[in-house]
Amino acid sequence: MTKKDVSLLIGNGIVITLGSPNRVIEDGGVLVRDGVIEAVGPMKILRRKAKGARFVDARGRVIMPGFINAHMHLYSTFARGLMPKQPPAENFVQILERLWWPLDRVLTGPDIAYSCLIPLIDCIKNGTTTIIDHHESQGFQKGSLDVIEKAVRATGVRSCLCLGLSDRYGKGRQGLEENIRFAKKIRAKKAKGDDLVSAMLGLHALFTVNPKTLAQSVKTAKQFGVGIHVHVAEDKADEVANRKKYGMSVVERLHQAGGLGPQTIAVHCVHVDKAEMRLLRKTGAIVVHNPQSNMNNAVGVAPIPEMLAKGILVGLGTDGMTANMRDEVRVANILHKLAKKDPRVFFVESCRLLLENNAKIASRFFQKPVGVLKKGAHGDVIILDYDPPTPLTANTFLGHFLFGLCGAKVSTTIVGGRVLMKDGKLLGLNEARICAQSRRLARAFWKRF
Ligand SMILES: [Zn+2]
Repeated sequence: MTKKDVSLLIGNGIVITLGSPNRVIEDGGVLVRDGVIEAVGPMKILRRKAKGARFVDARGRVIMPGFINAHMHLYSTFARGLMPKQPPAENFVQILERLWWPLDRVLTGPDIAYSCLIPLIDCIKNGTTTIIDHHESQGFQKGSLDVIEKAVRATGVRSCLCLGLSDRYGKGRQGLEENIRFAKKIRAKKAKGDDLVSAMLGLHALFTVNPKTLAQSVKTAKQFGVGIHVHVAEDKADEVANRKKYGMSVVERLHQAGGLGPQTIAVHCVHVDKAEMRLLRKTGAIVVHNPQSNMNNAVGVAPIPEMLAKGILVGLGTDGMTANMRDEVRVANILHKLAKKDPRVFFVESCRLLLENNAKIASRFFQKPVGVLKKGAHGDVIILDYDPPTPLTANTFLGHFLFGLCGAKVSTTIVGGRVLMKDGKLLGLNEARICAQSRRLARAFWKRF
């Protein structure tokens, strides 16, 4: 673990601030002190302010805020290359029953630790500096969030964590207790000024959570002032099961239990109807879109353009498919163009999900703003190896972003003033050793699966 830099000047680059207004500053820099941004502006001004600060030279390349992943599953690593014994799943419920549920039942503490370290390293390499994670491990719940927190602190990626509780194996109460224990612990750390890790209350999805557990979960979330992070109408099966058993849609059931509000993240919402959209809008709830996962599971196309038109705050996540948010934004752009058969749609919107809305969303779960370069925000900064071939201004930025910066290499990643990667080299992490240990654990894990 490297020591946190007290004072850091990231400069000599083209600064993209994001936020409102998004500014593009030629020969600009960002001054970070004690993990927080003190100033953003032209180098000629910053040099005077930054006396004694360590200098990170961007060499004329692009300096911008780190990316945010609004829905991640760090625990999914050991599925990579796993060969299920059963025939290929024909639908979403079978995907859960044949892959994800058996997988999360046999994860041990060390499995979780290494399952997390690998994607966290990928986050650093891809400039993802904040993640909102949703964990599941039915066979090892108590203490599982501590294991993830340890991996997060070792790598330095800002993270909001929860355990997705579920009654599918009768362990909902145990899952709730783990969420409570962790929320208490994080509350005490926040009181001391630590904002690297946050906590939410996780629910798997309403079709595996019974009314008693749901009521207790909502009560607990309110008591601890934490948000609820839940999969909503990812597949038609979730809607069908809730309507059949409870006579209500998924969003109605969540609303009736008091579980919708500005701190609620409703993930996917592929199969929500107009009434459900109205409830999401009315309560200020957050929706997170995961286009690659939705396409991969063949669950459908979420009505994101419609939700944005209604004023719902929609962000972008990867659902564990990747740690690279720039892959996800490119897929979001082309998916909705194809779905609508209209080349005019979703160019601006796809960028807005990642670059504006994810910042708004994450800023609800951390004490200081993230995803923007401005005074008082967390010092989460990346350098992209991009030399613009056409004029790069605030007006032309989105074109450069989707068709240039999205393919550029991330050279430097900084979180809270701590340099995690410099000039393509990870600092304080032995990636080869971590991968070797991960392979050893995965081999034994696959035998148990
Ligand atoms: Zn998910």
